[in-house]
Parts: sequence; structure tokens; C-alpha cells
Amino acid sequence: MTDASAENSLIYMDHAATTPMLPEAREAMLPYMEDLFGNPSAVYRFAGKSARAVADARAKIAAKIGALPEEIFFTSGGSESDNWAVFSACEERGFKDCHVITTQIEHHAIIEVCKRLEKLGTTVTYLPVSEEGLVDPALVEKHVRPETVIISVMMANNEIGTIQPVEEIGRIAREKGILFHTDAVQAFGHIKVDVGRMNIDLMSASAHKLGGPKGVGLLYVRKGLNITPFISGGSQERGKRAGTLNAPGIVGFGEAASISCERMDLESAEVVHMRDHMISRILTELPGTKLNGHPSKRLPGNVNISFEGIEGETALIMLDRAGICVSSGSACSSGALDPSHVLLAIGRSRDEARSAIRFTLAASNRMYEIDAVIDKLEEIIGRLRGI
Ligand SMILES: *Cc1c(COP(=O)(O)O)cnc(C)c1O
Repeated sequence: MTDASAENSLIYMDHAATTPMLPEAREAMLPYMEDLFGNPSAVYRFAGKSARAVADARAKIAAKIGALPEEIFFTSGGSESDNWAVFSACEERGFKDCHVITTQIEHHAIIEVCKRLEKLGTTVTYLPVSEEGLVDPALVEKHVRPETVIISVMMANNEIGTIQPVEEIGRIAREKGILFHTDAVQAFGHIKVDVGRMNIDLMSASAHKLGGPKGVGLLYVRKGLNITPFISGGSQERGKRAGTLNAPGIVGFGEAASISCERMDLESAEVVHMRDHMISRILTELPGTKLNGHPSKRLPGNVNISFEGIEGETALIMLDRAGICVSSGSACSSGALDPSHVLLAIGRSRDEARSAIRFTLAASNRMYEIDAVIDKLEEIIGRLRGI
């Protein structure tokens, strides 16, 4: 089999892990990897072309989230942006006498930086969530203390797709004079994001989750906020984030963000239709199945199901043999299968968590692919439950 035919038979349902690059994004990037290689920070006119391309991308992205261009700080991706937002907020207070409110279902880029902060003397509250994965704004308010510096609640969850009431949580933070950070990596380009309406002070996003290249992201920092740099060095990004600007990546991010936001209304209806078809077919046709996450406050492409009596990771490997790419509800950390912290937080047992499979769809998926995956699943589950 040639590579091309292998690719043709691939069914990709792991868009929450990464997305294929939009051809327009790749095309837009190419000149900045070829002839227009100038350092955007250099002063000669040749480099000015790279600087202008970065400025254009910044303006395009800012417009899509209701921000000003100078509120966008480019980073190496969502993980860096998450680390920067939370760490810097606490650094300003000297880490001690400093309190962070976050949730039990955040991405590891938030959870792990919070653990690091705890070692430095910061107190962190990890709020529980409902069985559908929702954070209760009243609970956020209840946990506010005089020393709370930042509330970090993700806009939409990467595993179960639940969309949080960020606008309300942001309002509480604003009223109390506390910073509100949201990880919008799964949301930006997929659902509407408006930093003003949602009362957001700091927001993380990443290019490769919306059809852009890997290794580039952003932190939105509301005008007037003085956040400490996370990477020290040169004066790039107004002295807040040192390092030569990733001009090709930023250009690709700008193009991908524009396109995915423009196509959102049209495409999300299609994706929701495929998602709901997939969920309802699995829940009605396959016994011992349970949906993880909220039935409607849910990312358009997210399907996360626990399949009683099976190991998600084993099913994943069997699906892979059939050319189907999905994720499971456990993470392989140091050779062991740890059930997902998100699935445990919504009250799933360890076995239920380990039996979960996440399918994340995009507009490029087709209904026949969904039906093919369900047929294959039925066969795999029958075999796994038989042994
Ligand atoms: C993918 C992801 C990240 C990390 O983004 P990178 O650009 O891969 O570092 C952070 N948060 C969420 C919710 C994600 O899905």
C-alpha cells in the first residue's frame, strides 16, 4: 500500500488533539519560511515585511475575539499561555499569601502549574464540577478569599466538551477585583468567543487546534493589566515575551483563526448534526454505554462515551488497526494507565473512566465515516466483552 492510499483510508476523529492544517494557512506561511525570512524585530525594510505580516495576523486575531491588537501576546502554544497567566499572577504577590481558584477538570497545563505554585507557598482551590462537567459560578464566588488573585476556569473542556458559564464567572471575578483567566484552546475557532462580553482578563488559545500550525499560541491580556513576563530576554511582544517571533507560525495562526471563525456558523451546525447522530446511534444501539459531559452545553465536535466492560486503550489500538484515530479516557503516564482526572471529577468510577473513548469531529468528517466507526466499534466491543 502506498502512503497516499493509507492516508485515504484514514478516519481521523481526534481533532481535539490536533487539527490538520488548513491549506490557506499553509499557503500564507510559505513566503515567511522561504524568501521573506527576515527577523520581524530587525530595522531594515526587508524585515519590515515580516513585521507587517505579524501585525496583520495580530489584528485579524484580535478582531475575532473582540480585542485590541496590543492585547494579543504570541506564545509557543496553549500550554505556555496557561503557565504564563497563572504563574505570573502569583509571582506578583510573591507566591505566599496568594490564592488561586481553578477546577478539577482543567487541562494539565493549568493543573501542573498550580501544583508547582503550591510548592512555592500558594494556596490553590480545585473546584469540583457537576456530573455533566459544569462549574457552578455560585461555588466560585463562595471560595473567593481576600488573598485570591486569579480565577482560572476553562471555556470548554478538551475531554468531555462541556462549555462553562465563563461570562458569569468572569462577572464575579470582575466585581471582586480578581483576575479571570480562561483556557479557550478548545473554544476559539469552534464557538463564539468575545473577551469583552465574557468579562475575560486573560485568555489562552492555540493555533493547531483550529487549523493552524503547531507551536504557536497566544495569551490575551486585557489592556491596563500589568502581567510579569514569563520568558525573559529581548523586548519582543512589548517586553512581555522574549524570543524571536515565530513569523511563519503567527501568519498561519492568523489565517487559520480568520477562516475558522468565518466558517464557524456554517460548519458548527454540520458538526453538531454529525455529533448528535453519533451519540444517539451509540447510546441506542450499543448496550452498556454512557455519555460523558453535558448533552447540549457541549463543543460541536465532541463525543465522549464510556463502554461498560472494556478498556478504552485496548479499543483505541484495535480501532487504530482499522485506520481510525481516536483518544481514550486514560493517559499513559510512565507506562501505567491512569484514568482521566476529568472523568473521575464528573463522578465516573475508575473502570468507567478507563472504558471511555473520545471521538472529536470536524466539518471534514463525513456521515459515512461515523457509521463505519460505529460498525467497527460494535465488532470490537463484542470481541472485548466476549473475553
Ligand atoms: C491542547 C490544549 C492545550 C495545550 O495547547 P498546546 O498548544 O498544545 O500547548 C491547553 N489546553 C487545552 C484545553 C487544550 O486542549
